[in-house]
Amino acid sequence: MAYKIDGTKCLKCGLCVTQDCPEQAFVVVNKVKEDDGLMRYTVKIDESRCTECDTCFSLEWWCPAKAIVKG
Ligand code: SF4
Ligand code: SF4
Repeated sequence: MAYKIDGTKCLKCGLCVTQDCPEQAFVVVNKVKEDDGLMRYTVKIDESRCTECDTCFSLEWWCPAKAIVKG
């Protein structure tokens, strides 16, 4: 089972990177400053670091868009 970010749901807010993944598996692969002045972060979960602890998936507040998926 792999944990991934569903790009169709992700808001690119970058919040998941600031949470306490015990393995620091959330990685910013690109960041862009949009015309509205906000930063947009393209994030991935590094499968080589993820221990599948389930924390990011089970905590409601981790991702506001529920874009973290198992599969
Ligand atoms: S917290 Fe959720 S919506 Fe925001 S960048 Fe991470 S996966 Fe995307
Ligand atoms: S399942 Fe655990 S180790 Fe994997 S990305 Fe989520 S919080 Fe990090």
